[in-house]
Amino acid sequence: MTILRSGFAFCLVAGGFALLGCSSAPLASEALAETAEPLVNVNEFLYFRCNATAWGADASTLMQATSDPNVVTITYQVTQPWMLAAGDSCIVTRTNQKNGWGSSNASFSEATPATPIVVPGAETLVASSANFRVRYPALGSYTATLNWATRRLSIGTATPSAPAALPFWLRYCSELTCGGLAPLVVHVCPSSDPSCTPTRQTTVVPEVDGRQIDQIFFPLQLPEDVAARLVSGAGQVIGPLIFSSTSPVILRSNVDLTLSYYNVPPVWGGTTHLNFVTQTFNSPEVVTTVFRSPTFLTGGEPAEFHARGRTIITQESQIAQIQPGRMNASFIPSELSTLGEGNFSDGNLNITINYANPPFIASSGGVFNVAMPRFAHEYVHELFSEIAQSYPGNSSCLNEGIADAFAFAAGFLPEPDFGPIGLRGSNDFDQGCASIVNNFEIHDAGNCPLWQVHRLNFLSQSFARALLHPLHVIDFDSCDLTSARTGNALIVLYSDAAGQDLTSAVQQAQIPNAGSLAAAKLALGIP
Ligand SMILES: [Zn+2]
Repeated sequence: MTILRSGFAFCLVAGGFALLGCSSAPLASEALAETAEPLVNVNEFLYFRCNATAWGADASTLMQATSDPNVVTITYQVTQPWMLAAGDSCIVTRTNQKNGWGSSNASFSEATPATPIVVPGAETLVASSANFRVRYPALGSYTATLNWATRRLSIGTATPSAPAALPFWLRYCSELTCGGLAPLVVHVCPSSDPSCTPTRQTTVVPEVDGRQIDQIFFPLQLPEDVAARLVSGAGQVIGPLIFSSTSPVILRSNVDLTLSYYNVPPVWGGTTHLNFVTQTFNSPEVVTTVFRSPTFLTGGEPAEFHARGRTIITQESQIAQIQPGRMNASFIPSELSTLGEGNFSDGNLNITINYANPPFIASSGGVFNVAMPRFAHEYVHELFSEIAQSYPGNSSCLNEGIADAFAFAAGFLPEPDFGPIGLRGSNDFDQGCASIVNNFEIHDAGNCPLWQVHRLNFLSQSFARALLHPLHVIDFDSCDLTSARTGNALIVLYSDAAGQDLTSAVQQAQIPNAGSLAAAKLALGIP
């Protein structure tokens, strides 16, 4: 059987199978075989359905495309001892819908389904709805590979790849106790008996690509009138949210629940693998690693993160006229954001972006709305770090302000992320910046003076570039909005960048100052 795609329609040409949207005569189809393009994972999808993977036609069973258009593959965990002796039951299902049963589906099994495939092993599939058996030598990670052209299904141990680079605050564990620290122990109890000791227990092991990591954050999906309680260990339980600075987490509950934003069901009396998988993309501008739940971001979003990140890097770098070098970018879910807000630039070519979680993403209008403005902001920090010596003194607020103002001027950060309402909602930059002194927040203190430049219509891309190439190097504290030295420094910097006296921006910001560009220069001793 050959799978073909013509210029306009996708055609499945096979004896015994329906032709889907294909009106080509067999002869024409034969001719097309010369230039056949992949159909699998284009409009035909193959699912490896077992107890080990799951029985749905969805992201957890979908066999992924490979560089060979005829070959699809899936890597999964075998966690149940009975799959070793008795063997697991499996079937391969083809549908015409990605992550769904579609309007048409068919099943494939091996010719002698009662005889198990002993892993590592291979069999040729035939059309059949009888489950076949797969017997594994040990618990662990396995890969099933299917050549759809030959129908050959082979199952073997997953090839261990190099571990993905983790965000700087996370580590892989070398053994289950992860350094021997006591695990976080959490009990889930009804409000009527808040100090209960539940009899069911699961060990939640946080993982990246099946490798245990040393910290995790996850919510529990709990019924009403039930609460989680921290019993021991290093971490926090806040409502249904579990923060663990050690690994694994011992979770005990007699009530049914699921965990993480991806509703992972616990394995009571055993290990619950809270696994995140990675995908890595390379380009001259950036190496992108996307961490995700196996069931999430399955629609091509990881490649889109990479593509959009490249665009931001290329354009912001061009606007700034600064080339920091090839970046490493990580996109992580809430579960891995155990440090700060999870968005970081280290000034050394590494950016980490927290793309949050499905409810937050839904409320933000999509994952790119969450991630890419943050990316544009963090990359400006990388640009700033290249010229940080031009800003001696405390440049931390200026650095934050430029990160938002530049990304906004470049068109990658929506205006409300810049101003006028600050991260402290009571800071309204349109009312000046005086209130920030007593309601201090680093981004608000950085954004507010630059917001005045925007109000005066001087925040252009060339203004943003000029701030990264200041004509005068002035030592001042960018976070002290009560200091005339700060006001005078901003007058000089803004005026140089705008090509005209911008004292009015600093007056609007309500920062003390000498009253004019000439007076500010005189006060700072600038000739
Ligand atoms: Zn920042």
